[in-house]
Amino acid sequence: MPNHAKGTRSEVSWDPNSIRDDFPILARTVHRERPLVFFDNAASTQHPVAVLDAMDACYRRHYANVHRGVHRLSQEASDAYDAARARVASFVGAERVDEIVFVAGTTMAINLVARSMGESGIGAGDEILLTEMEHHSNIVPWQQLAARCGARVRFLPIRDDGTLALERLGEFLSPRTRIVAFTAVSNVVGTINPVTELVARAKQVGATVLVDAAQHVPHDRTDVRAWGADFVVFSGHKMLGPTGIGVLWGRYDRLESLPPFLGGGSMITEVTTSGFVPNLPPAKFEAGTPPIVEAVGLHAAIDYLESIGLERIARHEAELTSRAIDAMSAIDGVRILGPKAEQRAGIVSFVVDGVSSQDLCVFLDLKGFALRNGHHCAMPLHERLGVPSSCRASFYLYNTLAEIDRFATTLRSEIDRLR
Ligand code: PMP
Repeated sequence: MPNHAKGTRSEVSWDPNSIRDDFPILARTVHRERPLVFFDNAASTQHPVAVLDAMDACYRRHYANVHRGVHRLSQEASDAYDAARARVASFVGAERVDEIVFVAGTTMAINLVARSMGESGIGAGDEILLTEMEHHSNIVPWQQLAARCGARVRFLPIRDDGTLALERLGEFLSPRTRIVAFTAVSNVVGTINPVTELVARAKQVGATVLVDAAQHVPHDRTDVRAWGADFVVFSGHKMLGPTGIGVLWGRYDRLESLPPFLGGGSMITEVTTSGFVPNLPPAKFEAGTPPIVEAVGLHAAIDYLESIGLERIARHEAELTSRAIDAMSAIDGVRILGPKAEQRAGIVSFVVDGVSSQDLCVFLDLKGFALRNGHHCAMPLHERLGVPSSCRASFYLYNTLAEIDRFATTLRSEIDRLR
């Protein structure tokens, strides 16, 4: 049994040092032998050997195109691809395996829904409701859709503390609201949104609801049926898996009635010179050769996460986050963006009076700390918070309390130096 799997799920804390050896990249150093502290997990996460090995074995022993051949390798690859879909379905609580559509990532999934919904009756005067804390990938596809069909995009405001102004929801929901799309967790301020409540309110006016779960699925238990939305989307590379694969979960009847987005192989049952008949979901939305080896990697990533337990991962990240917020707020000039620790996931963005976020991240990098700076693909949110950019530290299961403590000490000294 791997070290990390020992003990019970009810343990209050858990030692991430027991799994760090599973991640070869965490052993490397940067800039004159500084140990790497990887705090850029909201952008993309690192890979355990189990994921690297699963993908390597697929390429070395089982690789061929899927669902296209009777030969042995094609069958092995098809079985692996189908097994990955089944694993994702059980991981997020889908009712049916064919509610899982493999796509390139969250961005692709949202574009797919926006494109397809645009062809199925959104029109002038209709409204699309988003929030002020969305990632650009949950804004631009809807703006594009609105521009094509004359609909209006509206934004539910946030409060100053980075939580959604739920008390104002009534002003924004009406029978004209056809789509409500929002993030489960902000990729900048880390706010955990009340998904079930928001979905229920949107459903009262008959809207279609899409939840951007890119920052939720990797970090906490997700049950798509309990959320009650129509679509839930997320990316493999933010949950220990490879790039190039993501998931669109859709309620089966919604996927059935949605027109296909991309045309090509696999998404049809018949093509003639005069037209085509679309396949059933999920094949209907998977035109062309799919991300086969990436699906195998995602399967291994889910197995790995489950061997630890999403509940335990969430608890560990909560501990890291509250330690980080306590230590960082004690540093003169640091302004942490977003709500108190209890309301947020493992993401802490901040600005420092008189110091540019770019300079600070460059100097932190020289000490071994990988943070992201900039607008984190959320320009409207930064505008609302009154800052052009921020530094972002984001944590995952392999980060330790000792790393947080070292970070706080280094942050303090770098700020002193830069001022
Ligand atoms: N939504 C959120 C909340 C995100 O954090 C991200 C990635 N930063 C995306 C969407 C886009 O994901 P991807 O780049 O994998 O398509």
